[in-house]
Formats: sequence, structure tokens, C-alpha cells
Amino acid sequence: METLDLEAPFRVTDFKQWVYCPRILYYQVCLPGVRPTTYKMEAGKDAGEAEEGREARRSLRTYGLSDGRREFEVPLLSSTLGLRGKVDMVIWRDSVREVIPVDYKFSNVLGEHFKLQIVAYGVMLEEASGYTARRGFCYAIPQRRAEEIKIDQKARATLQAALVEMHRVLRYEVMPAPTPNRRKCLACEFRRFCNDVV
Ligand code: SF4
Repeated sequence: METLDLEAPFRVTDFKQWVYCPRILYYQVCLPGVRPTTYKMEAGKDAGEAEEGREARRSLRTYGLSDGRREFEVPLLSSTLGLRGKVDMVIWRDSVREVIPVDYKFSNVLGEHFKLQIVAYGVMLEEASGYTARRGFCYAIPQRRAEEIKIDQKARATLQAALVEMHRVLRYEVMPAPTPNRRKCLACEFRRFCNDVV
């Protein structure tokens, strides 16, 4: 069973569950240990590791950059945000004190949770380094394409609002309402716990 980290109780990857249905995260943090590690999670991890080797040979022009140094698998922890995680790659632009998080994705679709993850990594990197994070990238492995994500005031406010709610769920063990999109429930592994969805 995974122990709860009180300094940083949430993983950046938890945004995936949060965006899909906030109630999944409730089950995960308030009933820890009930979620199995699925094949998809392991496959994604292996694909990310293989991508690191290809990334080393890839030009920074992929990201529209002419300079920068790359660092892989960078662990991050923010007790301010209550978040922990490991970003696939960081591009440091020392000349302008800019830091750019890059995360590899197995998916072609850039879902809302990917954006939240990139913004969270950017804010955590800022906090740790003093550099500025203005943008990040999701690199879609199947399409071999980097998509830029702005880390602007609006994106930061969206991140903050999500975190406030997530911490409220954890602190007060508040069960969120079920997702309004009940089609999601059909494939949900937590369906047996939700007695109020058909
Ligand atoms: S069954 Fe539906 S409401 Fe319940 S956790 Fe899953 S997606 Fe959310």
C-alpha cells in the first residue's frame, strides 16, 4: 500500500484522475491501496524511458529553441503546492534564466490533465530554481510532435483552483459529486463503490 506523503500528498499524475472524475481521486487518497497498477501504466513508463534515448539525439529545434541544456527524469517536490512528481525532461536556458518542462505522452490527444501537469511542473521548477517558467511542452510519442503549453496567469489560476479543491477533498474527506458524463462510469474500475450512479 502506498503511504500518504503529508508534505506533498498529491502526485502531478493525479491530475489525470482529477480531470476524468474527481471522485476517483477521492477513492485513491481516502481509500489508499484499492487501485491496482494497470498494464497501461507500466507500458507508459517503459515508453517514456525509451524516449529519453531518442530525445538525446533530437534537436532542440523540435521545441523551436536554438539553445538550452537538457536534464532528464527530474524529481520535484513542493510543500507549498503539496505536490510531488518527476518530469520527463527539463530544458534550462541559463542565458535568459528560463526553465521549460517537457513531458512525453503516449497519447495523440492533448487532454486537459496534460496541460495541468505541465503547468504544475513549471511552477514547481520555478519554485526550486528561481528561473521563470513561461511555457512547457507535451511531446506526443506516436506523432513525434511537441505541443507548446503556455504557463500564463490563466493557466496558473486553473492549477491553483484544482489544487484547492483536491486538498479540500483530502483534508475533509469530502466525496465529490459523480461525473456528469455517466458514460465514463461504464469503464470505471471504481464503479462498485459508487452506489449513486447507474
Ligand atoms: S463510477 Fe463514475 S462517478 Fe464513480 S468514480 Fe467512476 S467515473 Fe466517477
